[in-house]
Amino acid sequence: MILDAKIPDGPIQDKWSNHKFRLKLVNPANKRKFNIIVVGTGLAGASAAASLAELGYNVQAFCFHDSPRRAHSIAAQGGINAAKNYQNDGDSVWRLFYDTVKGGDYRAREANVYRLAELSVNIIDQCVAQGVPFAREYGGLLENRSFGGAQVSRTFYARGQTGQQLLLGAYQAMLRQVELGRVTLFPFHEMLDLVVIDGAAKGIVTRNLITGEIRSHAAHAVLLATGGYGNVYYLSTNAKGSNATAIWRAYKRGAFFANPCFTQIHPTCIPVSGHYQSKLTLMSEGLRNDGRVWVPKQVGDKRPPDQIPEDERDYFLERKYPAFGNLVPRDVAARSIKEVCDEGRGVGPTGMAVYLDFADAIKRLGRHVIEERYGNLFEMYERITNENPYHTPMRIYPAVHYTMGGLWVDYNLMTTIPGLYALGECNFSDHGANRLGASALMQGLADGYFIIPYTIGDYLAGLGFEKVTTDHPAFRQAEQEVHERTKKFLAIPGKRSVDEIHRELGRVMWDYVGMARSAEGLRNAIDRIREIREEFWRNVRVLGRDDHLNESLEKAGRVADFLELAELIAVDALLRNESCGGHFRVEYQTPDGEALRDDEHYAYVAAWQYQGDDQPPQLHKEPLHFEYVKLSQRSYK
Ligand SMILES: Cc1cc2nc3c(=O)[nH]c(=O)nc-3n(C[C@H](O)[C@H](O)[C@H](O)COP(=O)(O)OP(=O)(O)OC[C@H]3O[C@@H](n4cnc5c(N)ncnc54)[C@H](O)[C@@H]3O)c2cc1C
Repeated sequence: MILDAKIPDGPIQDKWSNHKFRLKLVNPANKRKFNIIVVGTGLAGASAAASLAELGYNVQAFCFHDSPRRAHSIAAQGGINAAKNYQNDGDSVWRLFYDTVKGGDYRAREANVYRLAELSVNIIDQCVAQGVPFAREYGGLLENRSFGGAQVSRTFYARGQTGQQLLLGAYQAMLRQVELGRVTLFPFHEMLDLVVIDGAAKGIVTRNLITGEIRSHAAHAVLLATGGYGNVYYLSTNAKGSNATAIWRAYKRGAFFANPCFTQIHPTCIPVSGHYQSKLTLMSEGLRNDGRVWVPKQVGDKRPPDQIPEDERDYFLERKYPAFGNLVPRDVAARSIKEVCDEGRGVGPTGMAVYLDFADAIKRLGRHVIEERYGNLFEMYERITNENPYHTPMRIYPAVHYTMGGLWVDYNLMTTIPGLYALGECNFSDHGANRLGASALMQGLADGYFIIPYTIGDYLAGLGFEKVTTDHPAFRQAEQEVHERTKKFLAIPGKRSVDEIHRELGRVMWDYVGMARSAEGLRNAIDRIREIREEFWRNVRVLGRDDHLNESLEKAGRVADFLELAELIAVDALLRNESCGGHFRVEYQTPDGEALRDDEHYAYVAAWQYQGDDQPPQLHKEPLHFEYVKLSQRSYK
């Protein structure tokens, strides 16, 4: 199969405008004849559901939470990018485009990234109009801060609660449509399968998490906006519920999975403190704007930070990358932190941490300014660590944070299954091998507010107005499979808890498929993942019944999927014989220890096609062409 990304022709600045003009339209009176399922009510899903309903379509929105507002997007702290250039500091659509392509280590599609930069300015207007309380400066304009990978201030924020405030905006817009009867909400429903009829997506099968009822829902198109799969590593900064099930089911029904190995490790998380920890807490990247990262110069220096004099400190990011300093992109910062810790210069009880120090910023700006900018984050840090960051530097270490891989989509956000779309973090698009900070919110909202409302019309306009129902035998078949799978979990007479097995998988993933990967380690990981998967199906213990709330059963389903996806991640990483962005293969580095790409052989999107449980997946390559941003070794010096 040849992957057609449907990238419009013409100059990059005109591609999206031309494309929009060429897309077929659905007459307003006909829109109400179409049903659209949206799975996920995070920023991507809620914005899509609200926008499509506003256009007049019938929307059914699903999430596994008790309230759509609990989607993981609520946790986003730092901010959202937009090329507004209020600061007059040299920003532009072109610069955001350039920074994003470069930041993604040249593994993203130019046309998509340009469109994202172009739409960024509309997103801010939309959100302000919805009442999102972005920070403002003295003159009343929206305030900006800078983020990793950029030398301009283009990140809009609402203290350390940007995701929450943006989600409230999208959620209100969606609820307005619920009130108008155009969106039907299905909270506490988990999508467990996708129904494909005559090659096109026609519905989903869900489990009601309270009653256990398994039910089909039909629609003319299905949109997945189900977030990232970082929890395959067990410990991550993601919400505990974030998982891969929806996209994994879609993969098994024929949607290609792109670049699964592109995982972002975020440099500024609170370090791991114990074996039974279930998640890691992110300290927003916005903090790197004012905080300085350092370790002692001496290996094994265990003195408290205030007893280490200035000239015995190594501000290693500022030393190695004078142009960007503490604001180098996440992959670069994360690797540098690992490096100094591996040298034995890490701080804190485990030695797996570096300092993020605000002493200078407090001296320069005053405590009140720092408090205004980051007060809630400082409070959160203190509650977790019992250390006051106004007096003693924070300790941070990298943790799994974001997955750039996901379902392959074309320029219209359609997967390889007609009628199935993927939006937000669950698709692979726009970030390449590394995501610049504050770009995920931007991409999720661009997808939901400004792209899908146009592109879905083109598909629906070609469908005709036939009613969709769940009468087709494909629905019964999928329901039956979901039932059987659920029963199978409960019937395993095993001894180990789902969490225990998940933790073991996470350890293998972190050790061999984490911040640094090698061919030998990846081969070992693939063997270990297969063993753990085999043990899971033989020895997991899932208590309770399937006809009421059963979190252990829910988790079992998600971990079973992680156990399959984990192998695909490792296989993808093993095949990519280069380093790029978040994918760092130790065999491929520059003399300075930076990621060494191989553009001749690997400037492509790796899109994997499922071939059956006992068959290796088939790789398809979408070549990437760089017409506007010159391919070069990334440098932040
Ligand atoms: C701690 C943290 C801080 C972050 N800070 C920032 C930031 O400052 N700026 C930035 O740009 N990005 C940030 N990110 C990244 C960003 O928050 C996410 O990428 C983004 O919010 C994902 O949005 P989404 O709509 O794609 O998915 P989510 O918000 O994860 O929503 C997923 C939705 O899908 C539903 N769902 C999933 N599977 C199923 C299923 N099988 N059945 C039914 N429903 C399902 C869930 O219920 C949920 O409603 C941060 C991430 C983390 C972890």
